[in-house]
Amino acid sequence: MATPFYRVVPGSKVDLDRIDPADVSPFTRREDAEAAMAADLLRLRDLQEQFYVDGRYALLLVLQGMDTSGKDGMLRHLSGGLNLAGSEVTSFKAPNSDELDHDFLWRVHRRVPARRRVGIFNRSHYEDVLVVRVNNLVPRPVWRTRYTQINEFENILVQNGVIILKCFLHISKDEQKERLLARLEDKDKLWKLEPSDLAARKQWDSYQEAYEAALAKCSTKEAPWYVIPANRKWFRNYAVTRLMVETLESLSLKLPVPKIDPTEFTIV
Ligand code: AMP
Ligand code: MG
Repeated sequence: MATPFYRVVPGSKVDLDRIDPADVSPFTRREDAEAAMAADLLRLRDLQEQFYVDGRYALLLVLQGMDTSGKDGMLRHLSGGLNLAGSEVTSFKAPNSDELDHDFLWRVHRRVPARRRVGIFNRSHYEDVLVVRVNNLVPRPVWRTRYTQINEFENILVQNGVIILKCFLHISKDEQKERLLARLEDKDKLWKLEPSDLAARKQWDSYQEAYEAALAKCSTKEAPWYVIPANRKWFRNYAVTRLMVETLESLSLKLPVPKIDPTEFTIV
């Protein structure tokens, strides 16, 4: 089966216009994707337990994407497969004054999951080359050097046992319009909207450019970027779950040698 995500080849250019956000291949029917995904969620639960007892690694899933691309929905979905006891989510907002007084990776490094744990970043250090770049929040020479700094930082993490998966939830501008309108029209969803979301939509092209740069410069062999077609929520859920399952399966996780021989063990 073809993989349902695009791994950005290290060193290659990225043209997001050439990746269809509505792609659902290899599926043609939503029901098929949902059945495969349900099986993967169960598998993820088992794999996370093996991952925990294996103890060699931490897993960090980075979620990035435009407003309404489904980062929050993705978290809700994954919560159906991950054990809360071994997981943690960090949602990165605009930095506070304490955070701004440190290097941009300071607040990020302290949220990196410990060995055995699965950490999910809802936004991340990539905001420091996305919103920061698009809005000139720091001078250009400052954000330009961050791509290399990010690669070096992630490389340190990988060398210390952190498996890093970075997913860009790719939606089209039309799909975002639909989702923003749905929020505007639904009084129960209106709270989700911020004036800054509408401002960011006006900067759509600059954001796509900033994403292309981040994906191209920071997809490394050690910590690759994946583009997830995300116009269809069910496909997005399937693809990210599959990626996590494939990644965990590739680790040849080992259960510890049992301390007890069950044939010699009786419970009185
Ligand atoms: P939300 O994900 O909707 O809760 O929004 C979080 C907001 O925080 C978004 O507008 C982000 O662009 C913003 N944000 C996150 N990280 C940074 C950062 N490093 N610098 C500036 N803004 C940020
Ligand atoms: Mg928002």
